[in-house]
Amino acid sequence: MNEVLLEKEQVSINALKVLSRLSEHGYQAYLVGGSVRDILLNQTPKDFDVATDAHPEDVHELFRNSRMIGRRFKIVHVRFGRDIIEVATFRASKNIEETDQTERGLLLSDNDYGSFEEDVFRRDFTINALYYSPDTHKVTDLVDGQADIDAKIIRLIGEPESRYREDPVRMLRAIRFKTKLGFSIDPNSEQPMFKLGYLLQDVSPARLFEELLKLFMSGQANVVFDELLAYDIFGWLFPDAKRAMNQYPAKNLIREALLSTDRRIEQDLPVTPAFVYAALLWYPFVDEKRRLEQEGASHPDASNEAAANVIAKQLLFTSIPRRFSTPMREIWNLQFRLPNRKKAKALVGHKRFRAAYDFLLLRELAGEKLDNLGAWWTKYQEDNPTERQPTKPRRRRWPRRTQEKPS
Ligand code: ATP
Ligand code: MG
Repeated sequence: MNEVLLEKEQVSINALKVLSRLSEHGYQAYLVGGSVRDILLNQTPKDFDVATDAHPEDVHELFRNSRMIGRRFKIVHVRFGRDIIEVATFRASKNIEETDQTERGLLLSDNDYGSFEEDVFRRDFTINALYYSPDTHKVTDLVDGQADIDAKIIRLIGEPESRYREDPVRMLRAIRFKTKLGFSIDPNSEQPMFKLGYLLQDVSPARLFEELLKLFMSGQANVVFDELLAYDIFGWLFPDAKRAMNQYPAKNLIREALLSTDRRIEQDLPVTPAFVYAALLWYPFVDEKRRLEQEGASHPDASNEAAANVIAKQLLFTSIPRRFSTPMREIWNLQFRLPNRKKAKALVGHKRFRAAYDFLLLRELAGEKLDNLGAWWTKYQEDNPTERQPTKPRRRRWPRRTQEKPS
């Protein structure tokens, strides 16, 4: 067993409060996961996760400011203002024969509690399985996670293929940590990813949406896109978008939208998944609209029906909450109104004008020939600077949602 020291100052006060209260009540309590990993990498942790032998009900009882969440695996959120400490109970190791699994190996329910050692081996990657105890100031490392951090390697704990089958989201997590940390995936952990993308079909669309949000809003969405394509995973998440790449400049448009999202995050400007999803599904939408028009439907009916069809199909794979699908449809609809230059003044006042104009520019960048409409609108706005409604500056806020957690 390796032990590493960690400076208490680097741990959030709130996390320390949770740890010490648990330990005062006789429970084991450790900081674990991304926070320990990030501190060891000299980075500021995004959030703090705690692992304990206290059951969720007991944790909830100890903290007035807490609530129990999750179905597949119950965890407790202890809230300090905007700061949330996530407390999970040690998980039991799985006797695969006896557990609730689908034919492809997916774990369906996971509420058996276990010991510290068992919990360690249920974690996904070695770099995420380091446990810090504030009592001893020591990091306990049963899986050589520190060595992998030093070598910048993402390595699954246990037999990779069955760990992906248990929870295919681990493939997306591997990609996320690879891009976020600039690590490489150990070949044994990497090899199965090339052929197991289809397993993502078994994961709930809501969970995939949450995971994709982290990937696309990471500031490195463009790199993530390449990874999803390289591992042959993209098509299992966005089948229509993948297919559209054969016939339309879909890949260019998605790339431009992701690059623009990355640039805006870099500049601390607001970003919305609605824009990214509008780009992902634009050509499937155009294609469906064309098909409906060939069947005799005309605009705007064809447009509305095409949007409804394409979104309904995507929802079978990843959910898109209405607060994003509504603006996404508005961006699409405006594409058919922007060529109407005579109505420029009214259009500029539309609340989705800016996004629709940005989207138009991306379509041109992607290779669509639109009679220099983008340049026309750029000039129009320069010539009429007062027409645009000032938009309220908005903070970028992603509500932390109930996450279904590990298996
Ligand atoms: P981030 O920096 O994004 O918070 P993280 O590693 O802390 O990264 P979380 O989603 O917060 O990721 O999860 C906390 C910890 O729970 C992980 O570090 C890992 O130990 C464990 N974990 C999370 N998801 C899984 C999973 N799908 N399978 C196994 N273990 C998981
Ligand atoms: Mg975390």
